[in-house]
Amino acid sequence: MKEFGFELRVCAWAERNWPPDDTSGTTAVVARQLGTKHRRWDTVIVETTDADLTARAPFGDGRLDSDLLFVARNAPTSWTYYRECLPDPGYPWRYVREAVHRAADRGFLETRRAGNRIEIRRRYRYPAWIDRIIAIENKPDLDAAAARVLAEQLEHDVAVGLADEVWLATSTTGDRIEPALLEAMPVEVGVLSVSPSSDGTTVEPIWQPRTLDSSGAGTRILDRPDGGSADRSAARFEYAGPEWKHRKRLEIAERAYERGWRSYVDTMRSDCRWFELRDPNGPFPWCRSKDRAQTAAECSARCPAFEPEPPGWRSRGWPIEGGPGKAAERLLERKRARRR
Ligand code: SF4
Repeated sequence: MKEFGFELRVCAWAERNWPPDDTSGTTAVVARQLGTKHRRWDTVIVETTDADLTARAPFGDGRLDSDLLFVARNAPTSWTYYRECLPDPGYPWRYVREAVHRAADRGFLETRRAGNRIEIRRRYRYPAWIDRIIAIENKPDLDAAAARVLAEQLEHDVAVGLADEVWLATSTTGDRIEPALLEAMPVEVGVLSVSPSSDGTTVEPIWQPRTLDSSGAGTRILDRPDGGSADRSAARFEYAGPEWKHRKRLEIAERAYERGWRSYVDTMRSDCRWFELRDPNGPFPWCRSKDRAQTAAECSARCPAFEPEPPGWRSRGWPIEGGPGKAAERLLERKRARRR
């Protein structure tokens, strides 16, 4: 299975089953391809609860970016001049003023003028809605070369400690996963074995991870001269304090909340006559021209087999809302919204 399809199946499984041994009512918000400037995880799980998601809801479906988070976390309960109640941002106040207006537009902050001053007060308390963040690296075909690169990346994840747990998900080829390849991985990293089953995908933990110190200090990569190689000797590292980690975790969780894992459709050609969604466990994209699951990279404007949906298919609501492609997007958006 190609990495893209594998990744979608791991996301769908995580949405239904995470955490694997949970009895405490944890809810999983699952997203793909998130992280920091220098490290992107394939699958990200934000562990939370339904009550915390309800408390997060008044802040809107979209993410709070770093400026909005700054305002949301520090806004007072009673009217105060914004420069007196918010901590020094460390950058020009005009950016904070702009964020204050955006927060008011989003409806979680109130503003009023007192002379030439802008006073603010919050409408809702920004909740501590993130219990844990789990990072999963997906590698369906784990061979010796892939294992070496992955081991480097996962070591870095463990050192930074942005996630509370780091996992490797790989497919079971034959009867089992080659133990020698797993031995190359850091012991802190958990291993998930993924295999197809009659009712979708079966995922089993075969090595439990260690919980990382996500609230303490770690290191972060400052620079990778060759643009992303996992060569640690070439990279520059820096101490990453608890506040940096806290902010990054919030930003990652906010992006996960906004995007979910079904946002793959945003970059694919759902308006192609060959595009469809299959498998109730996802659903997942399928190309009828190739007669197989296509990758997001293939399904683009450069695809030589692309053909627009015939106008006749768009008879209801055409040209804005009609057509199977738009219906597929609406279905995925409904499923994405249901997880919030
Ligand atoms: S033909 Fe190309 S653009 Fe159309 S669905 Fe298949 S991969 Fe996507």
